[in-house]
Amino acid sequence: MYKSDALAAFIRCGGSRGLFGGPRGTARQQTLEDIAANIRENRFKRIVVMAGAGISTPSGIPDFRSPGSGLYDNLQRYNLPYAEAIFEINYFHHNPDPFFTLAKELYPRNYKPNLTHYFIRLLHDKGHLLRMYTQNIDGLERLAGVPPKMLVEAHGTFATATCTVCRRDYKGEELRNDIMKGTVPRCSVCKGVIKPDIVFFGEELPRQFFTYLTDFPMADLLIIMGTSLEVEPFASLAGAVRSSVSRLLINRDLVGPFAWGSPCPNDVAEVGDVVSGVKKLVELLGWMQELDALMSVGTEAS
Ligand SMILES: [Zn+2]
Repeated sequence: MYKSDALAAFIRCGGSRGLFGGPRGTARQQTLEDIAANIRENRFKRIVVMAGAGISTPSGIPDFRSPGSGLYDNLQRYNLPYAEAIFEINYFHHNPDPFFTLAKELYPRNYKPNLTHYFIRLLHDKGHLLRMYTQNIDGLERLAGVPPKMLVEAHGTFATATCTVCRRDYKGEELRNDIMKGTVPRCSVCKGVIKPDIVFFGEELPRQFFTYLTDFPMADLLIIMGTSLEVEPFASLAGAVRSSVSRLLINRDLVGPFAWGSPCPNDVAEVGDVVSGVKKLVELLGWMQELDALMSVGTEAS
């Protein structure tokens, strides 16, 4: 796996950029300023965004994968056989209580979108967004006003739910009272447990995920933010754009193909605090006022 990924990176950077000479062999390293200019001047109109927990931690949502601050460390009180069991479908069928206790904490509307979510909304409003692929199940993209059709919620959503027995569909809102009361929601028809459409370990990815097969070849810019690129198959999407396509990483650390040594000239990494990185891009775009306006409306509405 690692070997073929490294090979893919070599082909991506060397193959397309003339590693062995040729007119494109001296391609200039792109910068955040170049990316901003290309967005501003409408050369990037089909932007795909990939995001993970790092865009939601600034909203106060616990990151389940960071040791120390992570949710897994706070799970002892649930008396689980091991931490990941909370998201395992077989364990859920055996005992749904820990998941619903957690769901109460994670439940959307307990948290507010932050600048990164509103930036994606603004990309959409301005006609630059092709799609957003998120690993997050907090629904903050929707709360920021990104339309559901622009979203691929790769690990599912609380917005919809399904009876685990008769497969009847429910709206997330219909479970809200039960979840907030700490009661396991039950189907009105068969009394089976209703599970929010969060993708558990041992479950298939939502069909929507496979939209990537058409989205990624069409993308003209890939923005990756707030993700460790460690969970497959999500992580591999970073290599699914055409080799000539610019990729911008806004993240606390270099991850995935950005951490593999010699960078591609069209890969740009803005390493550090994610909100600050996005803010820097927004300032270069000259969109700060519009973003502030969106954010203040969002705050009033909630
Ligand atoms: Zn049912």
